[in-house]
Amino acid sequence: CGIVGYIGQQEATAILLEGLRELEYRGYDSAGIALLEGSGLRRFRAVGKLDHLVDRVGDYTTSGAVAGIGHTRWATHGKPTEANAHPHGLTHSQVVHNGIIENHLTLRDQVPGDFLSQTDTEVIVHLFEAFLAQQAPGEEAALKAFRATLNALHGAYAILLVTETRPGEIFFARQGSPLQLSMTDSGCHFASSDAAMVGRCEQAVYLEDGQWGVAGVDALQLFDDSGQAVDPQPKPLPATS
Ligand code: GLU
Repeated sequence: CGIVGYIGQQEATAILLEGLRELEYRGYDSAGIALLEGSGLRRFRAVGKLDHLVDRVGDYTTSGAVAGIGHTRWATHGKPTEANAHPHGLTHSQVVHNGIIENHLTLRDQVPGDFLSQTDTEVIVHLFEAFLAQQAPGEEAALKAFRATLNALHGAYAILLVTETRPGEIFFARQGSPLQLSMTDSGCHFASSDAAMVGRCEQAVYLEDGQWGVAGVDALQLFDDSGQAVDPQPKPLPATS
């Protein structure tokens, strides 16, 4: 239902939770964040109000470089439980997703490993790790695995994914569900709508259907659905949402 993301040096729990707060009016049944720091991946999730997630996070703060993703969920597949709350993860990666993966049951049969949720979303992270394991090691391995994952998905999605093999980066994609990003002096921000960016960012790149890529703190690779590089075209954000 709502997505936020941040890559940079600033304290990320506050940025993500404030962003999710701005998206609250859209309605949700659970919420969560995942933080990829030097020490590894950390995740907090809670059912119900955002305040429940805030309680779970407690006084946890990030220090130094971080790539973080957050989500408020409006359940389409699986009850509103903590196990079904996003982010969904496997050994090395975590994902948040808005929309519906129509072929998730077929895809579930094609990947190894046990599933911990009833969501259509969890298969995304299983696919990604399976494709990553098949790649020759190298700079482009995660990007190739992410593209292979997207090619397998049918349906509507906005996706953010973080993986321990690429700290400081967020992999992203949009197909039929809104997603935007903004490169600022203090890092790279993602959101599913303007509300979570207004006041923090001055411009945003509104992704088009089929666009995907990877962002770092001051680097952005953006592609179309045929894999061609796209020149990002930031547009001014409204002063208030
Ligand atoms: N289909 C996903 C789920 O049920 C995402 C729902 C959403 O867009 O919040 O978990």
